[in-house]
Amino acid sequence: NDVDTFRARLEGLTVPERVMSRIDEELDKLSVLETGSPEYGTTRNYLDWLTALPWGVTSDDQLDLPRARKVLDRDHDGLEEVKDRIIEFLAEGAFKGDVGGSILLLVGPPGVGKTSVGRSIAEALGRKFYRFSVGGMRDEAEIKGHRRTYIGAMPGKMVQAIKEVEVENPVIMLDEIDKMGQSFQGDPASALLEVLDPEQNVDFLDHYLDVRLDLSKVLFVCTANTLDSIPRALLDRMEQIRLSGYIAEEKYAIAKHHLWPKLLKRANIPKKRINLTSGALKQVIEGYAREAGVRQLEKQLHRIVRKAAVKLLESDQESVKITVGNLEEFLGAPLFRKEEVLQGVGVVTGLAWTSMGGATLPIEANKVHALDRGFKLTGKLGDVMQESANIAYSYTLGHLGEYGADADFFNEAFVHLHVPEGATPKDGPSAGISMTTALISLARNQAIDRPLAMTGELTLTGQVLPIGGVREKIIAARRSGIFEVILPEANKRDYEELPDFLKKGMTVHFAKRYQDVAKVVF
Ligand code: ATP
Ligand code: MG
Repeated sequence: NDVDTFRARLEGLTVPERVMSRIDEELDKLSVLETGSPEYGTTRNYLDWLTALPWGVTSDDQLDLPRARKVLDRDHDGLEEVKDRIIEFLAEGAFKGDVGGSILLLVGPPGVGKTSVGRSIAEALGRKFYRFSVGGMRDEAEIKGHRRTYIGAMPGKMVQAIKEVEVENPVIMLDEIDKMGQSFQGDPASALLEVLDPEQNVDFLDHYLDVRLDLSKVLFVCTANTLDSIPRALLDRMEQIRLSGYIAEEKYAIAKHHLWPKLLKRANIPKKRINLTSGALKQVIEGYAREAGVRQLEKQLHRIVRKAAVKLLESDQESVKITVGNLEEFLGAPLFRKEEVLQGVGVVTGLAWTSMGGATLPIEANKVHALDRGFKLTGKLGDVMQESANIAYSYTLGHLGEYGADADFFNEAFVHLHVPEGATPKDGPSAGISMTTALISLARNQAIDRPLAMTGELTLTGQVLPIGGVREKIIAARRSGIFEVILPEANKRDYEELPDFLKKGMTVHFAKRYQDVAKVVF
């Protein structure tokens, strides 16, 4: 009978005393209830959960660093700094004897390998892995469960996770914590705080389970695209590891060693039957998948595999070869053209950093008419960016003469400043020097004569202040074929600390004041 089944489940487990007495109570209740009654059903269901959890069961951590490094290297190309951070983290754990009580946060644009690195961390440690997304989660009950009085009540995700993995110390990955919702149904963020906080999660109380469960041995790994929307209290408890996106050479290696073999294997097509030349692969990266991560690249390669499979079946060819010449048969016309950088009078390439990674940010200034003075601004700019456009305008007004333009140019010029790709909201102060340069280029009637990108905040007095995301921005510049960049002097260290492969072939000018920028540009 049920009572015996439940008792049998507990054999060999170290059930905490308080939990055991609850189980005994419920078992007593079950044995006097009518088998067909609704109450029997709910009690039985409750006991089912209580006895299905792995009380006191843990797996042994493998804190063997060479092995861990091997796992990380096997699954991921590049990402050297990320791997180093993880190894350091494990080394610390090896001395402490465990890695519980820490929370890692992997932050970076889509498709850079956050989920996949999380999996490897679990594998390196020899721990079970469980992953779920908290993105869009609006109901606290999804994390903390429903009270049992509620019809169809269920425990929350944490209890479900522990049941599923059958140990108390898995790696639990919480995906998209920057996209967690808020609503009238309680606040999932504060529920999550309870789960993650080592002070509180030793005796985590799920509403349904109604007995305390120790989550302190769980290693939590969170992922996010951006830090902005993560509640401060959560952020403070996490160790951030940043994944910033790949340059073309890295994508090539990732595709060759991981994505392509994986796709062929999944399709069960022998390697020699589809031959993707290295030229074609490069063209896929350049022309069809310009993104920080490799998700789009993976999709395009998948399309090639599908189309090639059709060709193999419809003809009696032994193999299909994909070259630069016939790539369009597989993928259609390229989505990106080779030379994407805009040039002209009043046009400047800025560098932006968003949750999608780094990006080039073209900025255009144009004289609309000469009837009055003033300027307008378009391109869906946030408040901070509008302010920095105002600063750029004021600064330019006062210093035109200094920069070789007619000092009265703006007296009879209504100027329009636009930041294209109007559908994407943009914000931040880092386009200050770029907007100023666009205005001066307009006043001088002189275009920038070479591919050059810049980023830096400008103050009213012409100081250039530091900006964030140097690494992401350099990656974005390289992706667009720009190898000359102006950065704020105060970001010099950030730049110098970048790995050599990102600095190779780059000319970087550091600017302290706007004069330094002008000297490089004009
Ligand atoms: P999202 O924010 O959209 O969830 P993500 O950062 O979690 O993205 P993943 O799903 O981990 O991205 O990665 C996308 C794909 O690219 C996976 O198939 C992953 O294995 C592969 N990949 C990403 N980076 C690397 C790398 N450095 N080496 C090998 N494969 C990689
Ligand atoms: Mg992911």
